[in-house]
Amino acid sequence: MNVTVSHIRSALQECYPPREAANLSRIVCCEMLGQSHIDYYLGKDMILSPKDEKELESILSRLCNFEPIQYVQGTARFLGRTFRVAPGVLIPRPETEELVERMLEEVAPASRILDIGTGSGCIAVTLSKELPEAEVTAWDISGEALAIAGDNNHLLQASVLFVQRDVLTYQPVEGECFDVIVSNPPYVTETEKRDMEPNVLNWEPSGALFVPDSDPLRFYRRIGELGRSMLTVGGRLYFEINRAFGEAVASMLRKQGYTNVRIRKDISGNDRYVIAER
Ligand code: GLN
Repeated sequence: MNVTVSHIRSALQECYPPREAANLSRIVCCEMLGQSHIDYYLGKDMILSPKDEKELESILSRLCNFEPIQYVQGTARFLGRTFRVAPGVLIPRPETEELVERMLEEVAPASRILDIGTGSGCIAVTLSKELPEAEVTAWDISGEALAIAGDNNHLLQASVLFVQRDVLTYQPVEGECFDVIVSNPPYVTETEKRDMEPNVLNWEPSGALFVPDSDPLRFYRRIGELGRSMLTVGGRLYFEINRAFGEAVASMLRKQGYTNVRIRKDISGNDRYVIAER
């Protein structure tokens, strides 16, 4: 069958605003159906095999259901690498890329690093690739997430050690010791949920995103407690945070005895990271 770029774009425009529809149709044509960028911008017809035609139908119906394009493609980019993603893991965000870039500037190459709530493994795998002398361990409560993270570790030839663990109940064992703990835990409050887009709300794992209004710092508090016994003296915590809780997280960590506690902003000017030293 011959199918035109404008057919795809107008199908997407029924569900998305024009700019987003244009962006998605470029991804569908060029990245998923193999059309060249030149042919795409010239608006040339694509000749699709019956199999590709079926594939296109399924892609368009998934997108019109507001499934995120990264799940439809099965991949997401993170600091120049391609990670496998599926609805069992959060799609990596640019804020988290910034966190890892910061760590790469500051963390000693041979550190023992622990990533808590690893999801797709994007933080842990990137650190393991960029700091080949580091020993990187990553935890997640979700077996589904760990399967995806393990695939990414394998596909990208990294050497992260993955462990299934619930940080809220875990009791550290004697001698379990890290130089750096990093975490991007769930931090969106139930109230903030109301303002979220359907592609996040209906598709991304709620266990990776939401915390109760009654206790938005629960993960930070618990990780702070664990860090007091699991971090080496002078070891560091790196947190990604809800922009509304910079001061709250920082003062909680000071109360827990951490020093040199700093709030850092993301590229959009929001409080997004808290870094502290044991
Ligand atoms: N930044 C993500 C979002 O707003 C939330 C990530 C998280 O909860 N850790 O969708």
